[in-house]
Amino acid sequence: MAEQVLPKRVGWVGLGLMGYPMATNLLRKMQDADFYVYDVVQEFIDKFVADGRGRVHACASSQEVADKSDLLLSMVPEGSHVRSVYLTPATGVLASADLSRKILIDCSTIDTGTSLAVRDACAARHPDARFYDAPVSGGVVGAEKGSLTFMLGCAADDAHLDLLTTLLGLMGGNVFPCGGASLGLTAKLCNNYCSGLIAIATSEAMTIGMKSGMDPRVLANIFHTSTAQSAILDDWCPVPGLCPEAPASKGYRGGFRVQLMRKDFGLAVEAGKRVGAELALGGEGLKVYEGASGDPECRDLDSRVIYRYLGGDEEWRKDFPEEVVMKKEEKRRLLRVARESGL
Ligand code: NAD
Repeated sequence: MAEQVLPKRVGWVGLGLMGYPMATNLLRKMQDADFYVYDVVQEFIDKFVADGRGRVHACASSQEVADKSDLLLSMVPEGSHVRSVYLTPATGVLASADLSRKILIDCSTIDTGTSLAVRDACAARHPDARFYDAPVSGGVVGAEKGSLTFMLGCAADDAHLDLLTTLLGLMGGNVFPCGGASLGLTAKLCNNYCSGLIAIATSEAMTIGMKSGMDPRVLANIFHTSTAQSAILDDWCPVPGLCPEAPASKGYRGGFRVQLMRKDFGLAVEAGKRVGAELALGGEGLKVYEGASGDPECRDLDSRVIYRYLGGDEEWRKDFPEEVVMKKEEKRRLLRVARESGL
């Protein structure tokens, strides 16, 4: 990859749970650059300006951010917010007098229709500018550590790919060009549809075993070395007490809010309908995430709280007081053996 000259004036819109730590990584790693930022919450702008020690400049609108920067990133909650950031007539990004040769990157997880509409509006008004969808996975911890995965809505031969890979690489180790406009979002929604269903399946299967009298630690170890193994089981297990670092073991705090999973899962189901994909589990899965999002015992907690919503036993230790230990390395060794033997 040719050495890339990174922009000296970076714009950022949306300094929330994800945007703030992502922008902080850029600020830390791009010592030569000035930052122009906007959020509807003034407090977030003020805090970032203070962090920037003279290199961060507060803006009064997304338009001002676009006017003052060479490249702009946005990270806001939903499609309606992305429309507002880019398309609001007097104050949106596209209201900027001059976007020529500027690069606009939206990292929000939204529907592909909105993303394509913003891209088309951008192409119509500012033919020299380029708009990309670049949603992320890895959550708040990945944003803080700079270890996000970016799913980039462009072809592998896109003229800006090297620059985008270098820039996004400052916030995450993996940058995947997904083939074309809006396909970054498609990849993100497919991933969350799949992991959302795996969490439901793992919760239900564990509950069948536990209600039948099995120690969940034994069952999880069997899954781990058999075909029910998954990242959800290994690192994000919905049953409390099986993965000490998982949100489930910390009262479902931290992680990926169940309302966000409901949003992404719903967007994936809509995308499936639009392209005519047969979804046997989409409607049922969505009901679970909608129900948990509205349940006061689950709302605002990590999405794996669907184990609780589905009636899973969180107090299983009283039935199985003895220790069953399996170290992570031993699990990994067994997994390798299982994979090699085609289990
Ligand atoms: P958040 O609500 O914490 O932050 C969003 C920020 O955008 C807020 O600071 C809000 O004030 C600001 N905002 C909203 N409308 C705006 C506007 N019109 N102009 C300027 N600023 C505006 O949300 P988040 O958790 O940071 O999530 C952002 C996106 O990232 C979502 O699409 C989400 O699905 C996706 N995402 C989140 C996670 C996660 O774990 N939180 C993980 C992966 C992807």
